[in-house]
Amino acid sequence: MTGHDLPRIATEVPGPRSRALAERLAAVECPEVTWQGPPAPLFWRSGLGANLLDVDDNRFVDLGAGFGAAVLGYAHPALVEALRAQAGELQHAMGDVFPAEVKLALLEALARVLPHELGFAILSGSGSDAVESALKTALIATGKPAVLAFEGAYHGLGLGSLDATWRDGFRRPFLARLAGQTRFVPYGDAEAARRAARGGDVGAILFEPIQGRAGLVFPPRGFLAELRGIADEVGALLVADEVYTGLGRTGRWLACEHEGVAPDVVALGKALGGGFPISACVGRPEVMRRWPSSQGEALHTSTHLGNPLGCAAALAVLHTLEGDGLVQRADAVGARWLALLGKRIGGNARVRELRGRGLLVALELDDAAFARAASARLLRAGWVVLGEGPENRVLALTPPLTIAEELLEAAADELAEALE
Ligand code: PMP
Repeated sequence: MTGHDLPRIATEVPGPRSRALAERLAAVECPEVTWQGPPAPLFWRSGLGANLLDVDDNRFVDLGAGFGAAVLGYAHPALVEALRAQAGELQHAMGDVFPAEVKLALLEALARVLPHELGFAILSGSGSDAVESALKTALIATGKPAVLAFEGAYHGLGLGSLDATWRDGFRRPFLARLAGQTRFVPYGDAEAARRAARGGDVGAILFEPIQGRAGLVFPPRGFLAELRGIADEVGALLVADEVYTGLGRTGRWLACEHEGVAPDVVALGKALGGGFPISACVGRPEVMRRWPSSQGEALHTSTHLGNPLGCAAALAVLHTLEGDGLVQRADAVGARWLALLGKRIGGNARVRELRGRGLLVALELDDAAFARAASARLLRAGWVVLGEGPENRVLALTPPLTIAEELLEAAADELAEALE
């Protein structure tokens, strides 16, 4: 496997080993976690570049980079080496008490690469954690508890972030535990946002620059700038959830940059560790300094905050994105791929819309069952493509930023075939 290989499928998908492991998994994992099919889940054995190998020795191309996290592809040498070296030195430090040196190196690198003076961070483990840090920051900085968020929003499933996640299915079983402090308005409707923000109690306007799990939804041009204006008018923080879009995915370090909009706080996750779980809430100095200095007992921390392995992974990701020009590459390669996809499938009657920015491309189909069938067909041919949106009608194409253009060209042919 070179990391740039075409798929090679030798068994039915999933194959017999995956099926056997799925049965064992069902005996030990809470049933709500892994979709048991049909089809049964695939089990991965290894990954290299854009390729994944399953336990039946079938080779796939991951056109989703594992929910966008494997931003450098799998087993990138810089990431492997950083983790190996760090694991041999120090695998755990003392969160908010005695940190490892690599945490400082990561925070300095983050401050360097992020635009708009976003220089003060709180590290954590998941995207949801980063959003929770951001929501706490907004309450600390403004004293105002309400959050303005958007229909369709996905900000994570922790009890804090879940209060700002839109989809009823996620919320309903836990409503009794939610703060009920979020006001939702239609995504893209600046006037509705302005009206809803005027109650005097809104401390955060929380938004995704492109809604990810809602189905890769792009707001109208100018919407983010309107939000900036509203936040300033009402004295709320502008909080960008860039867990999905951040760190090069759209051809900029932050998707907000496409609109020239400077958030007060940004949540990062997914790509930050290149597949290692680490996330960050990063804010402007004047905002983050509203937190009180630690009095020896941090107000918001956790055992693994600033874990050295996570910091080493994230540092390697940032250095590689920077050193290899991968953010600019995402911009250029993504534009070429979108044009090619437009030629190959843009005219297909089943395609409702093809849209993209950088290497975040959405193929919106006209019907949920058809989208499911297309992604199953792609998987059987060795292309991993997941559906997004409430009906999974949008195929999310978010490959590693390192993916070879030849693979993207082959993917365009394969997508065209899957839509026949
Ligand atoms: N925010 C956004 C925009 C996301 O897309 C996600 C995950 N899909 C999250 C937050 C939550 O991240 P995690 O699953 O790592 O908690």
